[in-house]
Amino acid sequence: MATAKVYRYWSQVAVMGCIVCGGPAEIAHCHGGSITPICGAKAKGKKLAYMDWLVLPLCPGCHRLGRYSLDLNVRAFERLHGTQVSHINKLIERTGVNVWALAKSRHSWAEVDCADAA
Ligand SMILES: [Zn+2]
Repeated sequence: MATAKVYRYWSQVAVMGCIVCGGPAEIAHCHGGSITPICGAKAKGKKLAYMDWLVLPLCPGCHRLGRYSLDLNVRAFERLHGTQVSHINKLIERTGVNVWALAKSRHSWAEVDCADAA
């Protein structure tokens, strides 16, 4: 389960609106695509606690309903809207919260070096 600290971060991020289209946002866990080489093939969103830091504010259409939404077609999403990694870096600039470091510090990422992405 996500910690209180994570939930606070999620509310901070969600109020910014969808990072793609600016619509009312929900929290979308990153997975696949540009995230895989950084966090490993096992990093599939909600299944790992550290992934709770690697989220994007997306409207339902950009998150899971649209044909090119993150959940339905990661490759198309990243091709059309930019990579998840670039969006996370954008969020870090806006919030000042280094989620790469947070995700890494709470867990040992054997095969992972998130510093490469920051
Ligand atoms: Zn959107």
